Amino acid sequence: MSTLQILQPSKVLAGKDYKEVLRREMDGGKIPLSLGKGCPVQCAFCYELDHSYRETLDPPKTTDEDWKYILDYISKKPTDPMEYWCLGGNEYMEWTDLFLHPKAMEWVEDFLKYTDKNIQFFTVGFVHVPKIHQLAAQYPGRINFELSAITLGRYREKLMPHAPSVKHLMKVLDGPAVSSANFYAFDEGTMSEDAVTISRVNQKCVLWMGCLTPVRGIKGETMAIMRQGRPHLPAEARRIYDAGLPNLQTVHTEAYVTAFLNRRRIVSLFDSLELEKKDTVVMAASVYKILNFYRKNRAKYLFVPNTMLSGDSDCTVLLTFDDIARRLTNQKLIHVPKCVMQSGRGHYMDITGVTLEDFMKKTGVKVKVLHKVDTAFANKQLWRNGSLKQYVEDYANNPLTQSYEALPIPA
Ligand code: SF4
Repeated sequence: MSTLQILQPSKVLAGKDYKEVLRREMDGGKIPLSLGKGCPVQCAFCYELDHSYRETLDPPKTTDEDWKYILDYISKKPTDPMEYWCLGGNEYMEWTDLFLHPKAMEWVEDFLKYTDKNIQFFTVGFVHVPKIHQLAAQYPGRINFELSAITLGRYREKLMPHAPSVKHLMKVLDGPAVSSANFYAFDEGTMSEDAVTISRVNQKCVLWMGCLTPVRGIKGETMAIMRQGRPHLPAEARRIYDAGLPNLQTVHTEAYVTAFLNRRRIVSLFDSLELEKKDTVVMAASVYKILNFYRKNRAKYLFVPNTMLSGDSDCTVLLTFDDIARRLTNQKLIHVPKCVMQSGRGHYMDITGVTLEDFMKKTGVKVKVLHKVDTAFANKQLWRNGSLKQYVEDYANNPLTQSYEALPIPA
């Protein structure tokens, strides 16, 4: 742990069989295959390098027998045509690139054949070509394949030396399989060149762009490469805007951008809460800036940094009760957005598994939950405004953003 946790979650996996982990993941909409070891790709930017903030228990490498159990368990769940079952557990297990499991392709096919459910997966590209294109053509609309291209240029070797080659990635992109490709700005001519290269072979996939946010566990040198992208983002985005590519294009990785592009929605939601000036409201950095910009002194804004995830994280959804406890001074009652306690660990729990009840008991501070500020608002409402076009027109070209970015946040 980089920071000593004041609030420790109660352990839920101690002494449990790994099948318990499988069931918990499946109940959360995951298809919990396991490599039985940490991810061998060892990307320098991987967000799982230090995942000790949450309790995990990694099942042994998935066997045919485990697979039968998984398929059978999932088959009994009701089918929601809007739901995509995610390949890989990531709540109670470590996240890995599951296409390194020798049976992964075969099991993806089983899943499509023996269930009527949709599947979603993320990989840096270890899929079998042409099998993946054949499956996408055979089961249209049932696969959401998010290709983590990350970068095709000069930073690739440093960031992901063990990932598939760019030549292989181009074959993966050339066909119906990939739904969206994510890649990022690191410097001049990185994100913009990748967008043009990818669009040349695939005009249908969504181009999902922005910068990579450093979090805990990532080495200083890698953090520097990740941070370097931010000042280049506006110019890189303008180049893509001017290129007029046919693909859908989004910039969704930057909390400060998302908050600004959604400033009207955030402010009107805040107004609807009908808080009083004396009320203390918890929030992460960018929302703090927006409310200080448009609704100064309408309540007491308690800025809480994402200390648990550290790095450059700035996200209310990923705040923990421990983060909040560290910022308390003499408050007796605070207002906390519901999205903080809607994590995959369970109801009224944060991403580490600490409950609202634990928080109130240990700090003696009362909490009023802001039910309207939930993950549905964060995921659906805020994500609507996130196209590259909006980013360029309403953020990069907006003179207001300079004063917004310069607004201080408390130490
Ligand atoms: S392939 Fe994915 S899970 Fe594996 S190290 Fe790279 S980013 Fe992490």
